[in-house]
Amino acid sequence: MKQREGNRIICPVCPHHCSLAEGQYGRCRARKNENGTIISTSYGKLTALMLDPIEKKPLRRFHPGSQILSVGSFGCNLSCPFCQNYEISMCSESETGCRHMSPEELADLAEQCKMYGNIGVAFTYNEPLIGYEYVRDTARLVHARGMKNVLVTNGTAELSVLDEILPYIDAMNIDLKGFSEGYYKKLGGDLDTVKHFIERAAGSCHVELTTLIVPGENDSEEEMEQEAQWIASINPDMPLHVTRFFPRYKMTDKAATDVEKIYRLKAVPKNI
Ligand code: SF4
Repeated sequence: MKQREGNRIICPVCPHHCSLAEGQYGRCRARKNENGTIISTSYGKLTALMLDPIEKKPLRRFHPGSQILSVGSFGCNLSCPFCQNYEISMCSESETGCRHMSPEELADLAEQCKMYGNIGVAFTYNEPLIGYEYVRDTARLVHARGMKNVLVTNGTAELSVLDEILPYIDAMNIDLKGFSEGYYKKLGGDLDTVKHFIERAAGSCHVELTTLIVPGENDSEEEMEQEAQWIASINPDMPLHVTRFFPRYKMTDKAATDVEKIYRLKAVPKNI
């Protein structure tokens, strides 16, 4: 991959490969060309910090019944018009309030929360991999304290980034937003990238997937059948969470997904 285009530097983290002039931010709003180097501007800057049940990530088959210290920052490299966390994922640092927490401070806090059933740290809420350096540095310290790391991601990152964090990640929930290139294009992503990411992750840690069903967009039984067949080809026991859309952000013109539709789609993989 090219590293420069004239005076511009190319960010290697995700397939957008933003070509950034000095001082310019990338599409995710969390990386920037500073003095000729691409830096993560969200390192240690948290917009959300809470102790959540692990089922909320969602993870169904990884330490059920436990709690996990869940943190988010700002920015995202996709542009889903229905984003449920848009207040932090679709904004820059100046548009949101952040508190600073070093990797050491977060790992220490995770350890202090053991008394409440905490098993480790989950990197979630916005897209963690646009600031993978903080994930890597914190997760290493969390492991050193004998605790677990969870990543909740859209899977839209280069495999070189994934490889850098995989040794420290115990479980992931990866969004598989649909199973057509056309739908991924609308969201500013790419289905093949996510498929390769899931394949690589599933060979190394516990993986569960989530598909948010948006009425009229990714809700056909044919698409679910193709998706389920592909998932089964990697690991027939890999859980898939099929979740409801609720009107949010730029998509407020559609009703929430019908519950019956979710149950119909949930039944599709069982017939494969
Ligand atoms: S991580 Fe951000 S800056 Fe880098 S290529 Fe992706 S969107 Fe662009």
